[in-house]
Amino acid sequence: MSKLRFDVVQDAFKKKALDVETPLKRPSDYFGELVFNRDTMRKYLDPKIYDALVDCIDNGRPLDLYTADRVADGMKEWAVSHGVTHITHWFQPLTELTAEKHDSLLEYDSRGRMIEKFSGKSLIQQEPDASSFPNGGIRATFEARGYTAWDPTSPVFIQGDTLCIPTIFISYTGEALDYKAPLKKALKAVSDAALPICRLFDPAVSRVHSYLGWEQEYFLVDEDLYSARPDLILTGRTLMGHASSKNQQLDDHYFAALPSRVAAFMRELEIEGYRLGIPIKTRHNEVAPNQFEMAPIYGECNLANDQNQIIMNVMNQVARKHHFVVLLHEKPFAGINGSGKHNNWSLGTDKGTMLLAPGKDPKGNLQFITFFVNILAAVQRHNALLKASIASATNAHRLGANEAPPAIVSAFLGRTMTEVLHKLLELPSGTPIEIAGKKGTSVGIVEIPEIFLDNTDRNRTSPFAFTGNRFEFRAVGSSANCAGAMTVLSAAVAQQLGFFKRDLDKELAAGKPLEIAVMDTLKPIIRSVIDVVCFDGNGYSDEWKKEAARRGLDTETYVPKMFKAFTTPESIDLFTSLGIYSPKELEARNEVKWDMYSKKIQIEARVMGRMAVNHVIPAAIAYQNALLENVTRMKEAFPETWREHASVATRLIESISWHISDLQWKVDAMVEARKKANALENDYEKALAYHAIAESLEAIRRPIDKLEEIVDNDLWPLPKYRELLFIN
Ligand code: ADP
Ligand code: MG
Repeated sequence: MSKLRFDVVQDAFKKKALDVETPLKRPSDYFGELVFNRDTMRKYLDPKIYDALVDCIDNGRPLDLYTADRVADGMKEWAVSHGVTHITHWFQPLTELTAEKHDSLLEYDSRGRMIEKFSGKSLIQQEPDASSFPNGGIRATFEARGYTAWDPTSPVFIQGDTLCIPTIFISYTGEALDYKAPLKKALKAVSDAALPICRLFDPAVSRVHSYLGWEQEYFLVDEDLYSARPDLILTGRTLMGHASSKNQQLDDHYFAALPSRVAAFMRELEIEGYRLGIPIKTRHNEVAPNQFEMAPIYGECNLANDQNQIIMNVMNQVARKHHFVVLLHEKPFAGINGSGKHNNWSLGTDKGTMLLAPGKDPKGNLQFITFFVNILAAVQRHNALLKASIASATNAHRLGANEAPPAIVSAFLGRTMTEVLHKLLELPSGTPIEIAGKKGTSVGIVEIPEIFLDNTDRNRTSPFAFTGNRFEFRAVGSSANCAGAMTVLSAAVAQQLGFFKRDLDKELAAGKPLEIAVMDTLKPIIRSVIDVVCFDGNGYSDEWKKEAARRGLDTETYVPKMFKAFTTPESIDLFTSLGIYSPKELEARNEVKWDMYSKKIQIEARVMGRMAVNHVIPAAIAYQNALLENVTRMKEAFPETWREHASVATRLIESISWHISDLQWKVDAMVEARKKANALENDYEKALAYHAIAESLEAIRRPIDKLEEIVDNDLWPLPKYRELLFIN
């Protein structure tokens, strides 16, 4: 086995970058060629059908079956020209993975011959069995059916030989069983709530869009090294492994030149991404060794999220070609940075105004401040819920660990905006307020300088930071579906905008001019957010934990407990009043979350136990036997002085014994704890019990990592951190 590890490492090290066949055309020429976008639609659809479809996409007008049939025909023609043989409804169940079931296009025609056929009916709706997907008991046992229904706002795309149709996934009784359905409802809620406010500033506005720009962090590991690590294969992270002598302490990985194998992988990934219409913009080395990041140009939130889901799959496929495996786990390696997925989020009108960017004139700036402050208020009110939205068994390793994000959701504004808010508060009530767009161009009292965008200081410890024209929700995990976080954020903001509009209307009804009415409504909110949710200091410090608790922010660190934020009366009111989740859906989803949490830790615990017994202890004993042999020989060779000569060996033998028995004892205790946890009926109680088991895994790894440190390198069966992290 030891020989095997050595060979694997050698082979991995020798691998060279693959040649990537670069298309002859420019990316802008093949961008979106695998997406049924508007250009393609125009080519393959009759103008009337095209108009009806665009009306459906832009204005939600339903398609009749005749039109749907024609759309399906056009899609089929286009798809077949790309070699497509199958179609699938592509959806996002609560497994956190995407799901697809392929059907071939083959059908018998009326004369019994085979043809390719795709009907409007199968474009619009299908009925997969919902019982095998997590549903939190929503699916009554007598009715296993679930529906997938086409989401025309996200374009159909081709993967390999399959036409993929983005869909929502709901139960027979109408409850959402996925991420997309609630997200779409929440996006509509925020648009509906923002619209009347935007219209006060620009009556021509008819729609407000949410934008998402995700930054995806990930690790790459050579596939041969990966295959020798059962923990990576089964859990996505290393459950054991002594720290490498060199890791990220030299800061020499961040933004460093891309290793050639990695560069080839990225090049191919980008080509595939562009073909799928994903506008990948940025690529770079991240802080930890073998950690990387990519980010696209932001886009409409629902579409951007689909693209993130698509690219996570494509990454895996492309990586395998390059003999890598992508790790999307939030914490694949202890002791170095984990991976997140920053969600850059903003709102904009259909007239092109970005609502979270300072405006061009005083009016625009007042609108900006209005949205800015209300978003902070929403984050404040629902800070526990926002944390719950990003909590998971895997993200728990980042949350609250000494790494963004802390387990407290606060907002970072930066110096400029903090000053602006303070100045606004100081103004006497009723003063006509103008917020200057450009320095010196107006009689404005509060100025937002032009250089504003470059002026936002960076605070890496804040989970929710204002970055000049958007907020960056940094707490989202690298493996997560962004929709979980975006649904909660959108709901919270929609609700707050509703409250604000209600209060503003009272001021307006009292006859105040708009500017004064807006400021008078905003002021108490500004006071409150400054006092509570805004925090520009070090989010990792212990003082902040105390201070945050004093301010009334949620400081819960246990993931299973965090989920309870979804079913508080306030949250139920939030989601039901906006029609996003019913109480039944909220409860079901929490059951799924607790269940997933327990199962993930259960798998880790099993793998840990087996690796301890099957990999670690045998290696340690083999080395111990070699040492014992050495002591015996010493005794024979030096009957008088052997003790002295064998002192190192004796100490090691003892030390190995201690670690082995410590390890075995801890594994046994963990197995016992698991038995007790498994016997619990209640999902929440069980998740809490598994939370304790998760902590015990950290204790189990200590003797293992100690043994790795002392056991003969040749005998150690598992690729070490220094190999996993530095070979690429
Ligand atoms: P950082 O410096 O934070 O690492 P990146 O360039 O890696 O920045 O990523 C920033 C992300 O934010 C990109 O996806 C970008 O398109 C997105 N973004 C920029 N402006 C906005 C905006 N107004 N709304 C939403 N996302 C935005
Ligand atoms: Mg970045």
